[in-house]
Amino acid sequence: MSDDFDDLLEANRRFAQDFRLGGFDGIARAGVAVVTCMDSRIDPLGMLGLEPGDAKIFRNPGGRVTPQALEALILAVHLLNVDRIVVIPHTRCAMASSTEHDLQERIGASAGQDASWQSFGVVADQHEALREDLAKVHAHPLIPESVKVGGFVYDVDTGLLNPLG
Ligand SMILES: [Zn+2]
Repeated sequence: MSDDFDDLLEANRRFAQDFRLGGFDGIARAGVAVVTCMDSRIDPLGMLGLEPGDAKIFRNPGGRVTPQALEALILAVHLLNVDRIVVIPHTRCAMASSTEHDLQERIGASAGQDASWQSFGVVADQHEALREDLAKVHAHPLIPESVKVGGFVYDVDTGLLNPLG
């Protein structure tokens, strides 16, 4: 077996030494679901003052409400104790500052082959995309009106969440 993951597995053994989440049923204890970007500058729990066990987290490039995100939110609302949903894209997101063509070119250069057939879901107007994403959550027939839905833009330079302008 290769040693490609030795550092991670070693860290995992240390993590497990004082593991306290065993036996927990996996609901969102704080009743919160978060949809946000995969960006490594984002700590979805930390930025909301939450801890492991408090929230359901769904991440993808751009923090978009995709069909898979909606699946997660429906499960979260009906089976996992969620009554508040926050959708959080962020400043300086590659998905909002590149064009589809740019990304295809850069990926193509990295891969050494044509990538023009791969879509990435680039966002032209981040605030407009967030408004559309919030509307998708509100409009979904399986997400009850009693569920609160919020949209904020996370500023990766200040750590602050700014309401949708
Ligand atoms: Zn991003």
